[in-house]
Amino acid sequence: MAFCPECGNQISIEAMSCPKCGKPLKQQQNKVDVLELKGSRDRDVAAILALLLGAFGVHKFYLNERGKGILFLVFFWTALPMILGIIDGVLLLTMKEEVFDYKYNIYP
Ligand SMILES: [Zn+2]
Repeated sequence: MAFCPECGNQISIEAMSCPKCGKPLKQQQNKVDVLELKGSRDRDVAAILALLLGAFGVHKFYLNERGKGILFLVFFWTALPMILGIIDGVLLLTMKEEVFDYKYNIYP
């Protein structure tokens, strides 16, 4: 069983729409859609920032990991942040969008 996010009516998981208020529920089957996205961070944007500007920790600031972003800036003069940025970029690109949303948009 599931609950209608609109009226709280108990409904079957397979229901296409809420029988009480008529809200379409098709996307409800995807768990991420049920949880409210608090952020609007985009995985692809984060990955591109990591690959192009990773040496400055820009993607960390974008993902609200300010502490890590500052560390990237502190160690900017070494090659390390650039390497870590590329690794982060690849990880972000291979990360499932659902996982990204869960990590950065639902429980940031
Ligand atoms: Zn309803």
